Amino acid sequence: MATKRDYYEVLGVSKGASDDEIKKAYRKMAKKYHPDTNHGNKEAEEKFKEVSEAYEVLSDSTKRAQYDQFGHAAFEQGMGGGGGFYSSGFDFDMGDIGDIFGSMFGFGGGSSRRSGPRRGSDVNVNIQIAFEDAIFGTTKEISVSIYDECDTCHGTGAKPGTHAETCSKCNGTGQERFVQQSMFGAVTSVRTCSACHGTGKQIKEPCPTCKSAGKVRKNKKFEVNIPKGIDNGQTIRLAGKGEVGERGGAYGDLLVTVYIEPNRVFVRKGTNLYCDVPIDLVQAALGGEITIKTVDGEQKYTVKPGTQPETVITLRGAGVPNLRNPKVRGDLIVTLKVRIPTSLTERQKQLLQDFYGNSSYANSSPSKNTEEEKKSFTDKVKDFFKE
Ligand SMILES: [Zn+2]
Ligand SMILES: [Zn+2]
Repeated sequence: MATKRDYYEVLGVSKGASDDEIKKAYRKMAKKYHPDTNHGNKEAEEKFKEVSEAYEVLSDSTKRAQYDQFGHAAFEQGMGGGGGFYSSGFDFDMGDIGDIFGSMFGFGGGSSRRSGPRRGSDVNVNIQIAFEDAIFGTTKEISVSIYDECDTCHGTGAKPGTHAETCSKCNGTGQERFVQQSMFGAVTSVRTCSACHGTGKQIKEPCPTCKSAGKVRKNKKFEVNIPKGIDNGQTIRLAGKGEVGERGGAYGDLLVTVYIEPNRVFVRKGTNLYCDVPIDLVQAALGGEITIKTVDGEQKYTVKPGTQPETVITLRGAGVPNLRNPKVRGDLIVTLKVRIPTSLTERQKQLLQDFYGNSSYANSSPSKNTEEEKKSFTDKVKDFFKE
């Protein structure tokens, strides 16, 4: 029991997963480990149980809220009524043995755990966007399951018309003291009050909607502005759109991490884009106009005669806009790939042999050739590719 896995981990979803995502993950896992398809497989059976249990809790908004707040302890016996050990650990109060130990251990003496306002948690979500959207920017609507104030009790956790009372176990301090034996002798330790979980308040009549949590999960929709030039793995912060705070604390933030789908043509490095463009033997040898695909559309480019394989050309400003200054764009860096034909007809083979057998061409510079010779070479190469 002690090594129970986190329910979110069991289903392979994030803490901010929507109800839909949880349902999908569960279906996938349940199918995989279902006893019908894993006859006699003990491990699969255990997995199936684990997955089912996780789904039972996470698919129920009330249970999920309790689980998020108290972890597995929420469903162990003795909870519910206010019992059970709240496992957020206990702080040592060194007050009784002096400040030396206090400062040594960094606890600074007195008890610091107070039940004042607490800011809500930040919520992380990942989204995937198209390659082009990262370059030109876009707006994405996302749906996230986030804790918000319970509309029934407005966050008090108490049934409407009733109030939370001062906790009788800790007298409202939120802490329990107890004496522990240690190598220094008796040490008074302090831990979070098990009755009120540190709030100092006890709810006699819990709110029927949130079961005293004061917050409920809601599926919220947000518009996220994706700026031009955002790069893979960068995060957009939506201030105040995260989880509701406690006891009047501010809302947390929503942190949207952007992942960019890879592109078939372009590879991105910073603000530069890289691609390969194939050209044929004739274009490489004689030069000519080729079409290069850019993110802005097609662009004509004139290849110089005698272009060598792996020649790199740079199209300035055809890359990705700079995130801080979108008017400045990176470059598109193109590697020209000369395509060597792999299957040749007999006639093509003959032409190539004639061409390379022509020592006057091979050993002298083209400028020395007569016009006629040049022409016949050009025709030969052109004929070669017409086959
Ligand atoms: Zn409520
Ligand atoms: Zn208490």
